[in-house]
Amino acid sequence: MFGGIEAGGTKFVCAVGSSPEDLVTQHFPTTTPAETIARAAEFFAGYKELRSIGLASFGPLDLNPASKTFGHIINTPKTAWRNFDFAGEVARTTKLPVTIDTDVNGAALAEARWGAARGLDTFVYITVGTGIGGGGLVNGKVMHGLLHPEMGHLRVPHDRDDDAYAGCCPFHGDCLEGLASGPALHARWGRAPETLPSEHPAWDLQAHYLALGIQNIICTLSPQRVILGGGVMQRAELFIAIRKKVQVLLNGYVTSSALLSGIDAYIVPPALGDRTGVLGALALARDLATA
Ligand code: ZN
Repeated sequence: MFGGIEAGGTKFVCAVGSSPEDLVTQHFPTTTPAETIARAAEFFAGYKELRSIGLASFGPLDLNPASKTFGHIINTPKTAWRNFDFAGEVARTTKLPVTIDTDVNGAALAEARWGAARGLDTFVYITVGTGIGGGGLVNGKVMHGLLHPEMGHLRVPHDRDDDAYAGCCPFHGDCLEGLASGPALHARWGRAPETLPSEHPAWDLQAHYLALGIQNIICTLSPQRVILGGGVMQRAELFIAIRKKVQVLLNGYVTSSALLSGIDAYIVPPALGDRTGVLGALALARDLATA
């Protein structure tokens, strides 16, 4: 049996189990590191047979095992969590082996094992919610590299005559996250995205920006599938519009039936639904214990 934490900026989801069929979860708000870790430790203390704990966390994270600050959350806008030794603190309080990765790499791992990416070795998982993040596998391995991918901060063309909104990324202004995250939608249109009706022009513009980002990722990584999760992607119409726009942007250049007649099976929602994140944490723990 394994433990997992899907650590989000507003919510922590803790789980114990071994697969989607064998899963017990509990969630609570993300407050201070001390208080939040104590609640998680209390939950895990109820299960004596845990072998390891996986953390699928908001970031940015230091994931370099040779670094002195490995497992720390680094320059997050959430100041209480900045430079916090997340992996170290969970290991100290639970006395269990702990592994850590980004929330999106965790989600990708869960979809590879049990969901929409089974049998694939190169694909991406992108979440569009309070921020935009992307991760995934390349040739069967979770992407890390220098730090870890930051697909939400891709620069995309921004026509200020069509869209005067300056963007809300504190680092870049109008990067993809700055233009197309939930808070960007809220700020541009003056109301919460979930209250915008389907025929509202917000959605065509939203599909436009996401399609630009996805087109860049397709041309960079050649993924075998693109999984789109997160709160903003709860609208089925958005998938239809994004698929069409990605085809128009690629303009037939990348020659694969997956991008033509197969596009409905190429740009897809996560098969594990809202459990993808926490199952990702569990998958990380499982890989640590069985490595
Ligand atoms: Zn940015």
